[in-house]
Amino acid sequence: MNEVNASIITIGDELLIGQTIDTNSAFIAQELNKIGVWVRRRVAIADDRQAILDTLAAEAAQSQIIIITGGLGPTADDITKPTLCDYFHTRLVVDDGALQNVTTIFQRLGRSLTERNAKQAEVPESCIVLPNRRGTAPGMWFEKDSIVYASLPGVPHEMKGLIIDSVIPKIKETFTLPAVVHRTLLTAGQGESGIADRLVDFEAALPPFIKLAYLPAFGMVRLRLTGRGSDENIITKKVEECFTTLKTLVEEWMVADEDSTLPEAVSQLFKTEQKTLATAESCTGGYIAHLITSVPGSSAIYKGSIVSYANEVKKTVLDVKEETLSEYGAVSEQTVLQMATAACTLLQTDYAVATSGIMGPDGGTAEKPVGTVWIAVANWAGSARAQKFHFRFDRMRNTELTANAALMLLRNFVLENRNA
Ligand code: AMP
Ligand code: MG
Repeated sequence: MNEVNASIITIGDELLIGQTIDTNSAFIAQELNKIGVWVRRRVAIADDRQAILDTLAAEAAQSQIIIITGGLGPTADDITKPTLCDYFHTRLVVDDGALQNVTTIFQRLGRSLTERNAKQAEVPESCIVLPNRRGTAPGMWFEKDSIVYASLPGVPHEMKGLIIDSVIPKIKETFTLPAVVHRTLLTAGQGESGIADRLVDFEAALPPFIKLAYLPAFGMVRLRLTGRGSDENIITKKVEECFTTLKTLVEEWMVADEDSTLPEAVSQLFKTEQKTLATAESCTGGYIAHLITSVPGSSAIYKGSIVSYANEVKKTVLDVKEETLSEYGAVSEQTVLQMATAACTLLQTDYAVATSGIMGPDGGTAEKPVGTVWIAVANWAGSARAQKFHFRFDRMRNTELTANAALMLLRNFVLENRNA
């Protein structure tokens, strides 16, 4: 089966100077990947006529699908539409549906429609209009010399709506695409090279249409099997078989056998076990609470946090003794154990996790350098455990690594105590 190639062109001066991060092409690439389209290039260019024309020509020489975002606003810097007219040898005309959409949006806002805003309803005559329910600039679909082009607004939520509602369905109608099947699992506690050593024979025995990818991040490694081919049933069956083998091979490190995050896996464990959780956070400042509450449905398991950043709060709210702080310090086994135990009691939960550390760039000492972190877990029954970590990155990364380590410690503690 022939590969269907795509190019993604993101247009906007702001992308080139780094003022706006190009998240659009990442989203589009993911959606194209899901339906078996191979993204061969992502290009960011300026709001510049010649750059747009050159890039369209260069990408059209190699891709059958070209997706463009940006440059569709009502201001003078946005020139994508007139440039597309030049490229397709056509002219701008008013689209009645798009004009109706702009008019309705302005009526709803209680504002009168200016000439500049009405121009949002102009489109190149040769395009098929893709209605934009989320904003004033319509999407546009062109077909020329067996290549399809979609031009979409740069505003991410408008672009996403158009990709899902219009562009992906139209690509599926237009091209014969391979079936793509992904199966992903999440591991922790082993680096990618350690995992790769274990999987040497497994990888060598994979059929040519199944690929294994290692995706490491923050002390965890995601393993993804991707099968591609013309027969969806055969691909699905074979990927399932290989995934079952993979799971047994990495069982000791596996946190989830699906494409989930660590907070999702921990929330799921608490739900299954019907247990509740509290956090007492010093150095993470509520970040663990944020990660857990980002998971939909976390109210079933999560009660709350005490952000005890100052020693005063550790003492008055969490009952950490003055002597503990003066003798061992705020970043110590004794302090985090007391924090976790107190959080469990105060918030009346089955489990609690506590953090205290030096995230940097300042505040380190010879004895406790930047990156020193103590994490404790405790349960209602009175068991508790603490562990010391050394992270060696910047403040943000140290915070993320601490949160992940805390969730892992918690997960293992719950698993050990579940039949206790
Ligand atoms: P435009 O269609 O060029 O008027 O884009 C409108 C807004 O969308 C810009 O001001 C950016 O904030 C945002 N935007 C444009 N392109 C991108 C992109 N590739 N990724 C994320 N945001 C973008
Ligand atoms: Mg722009």
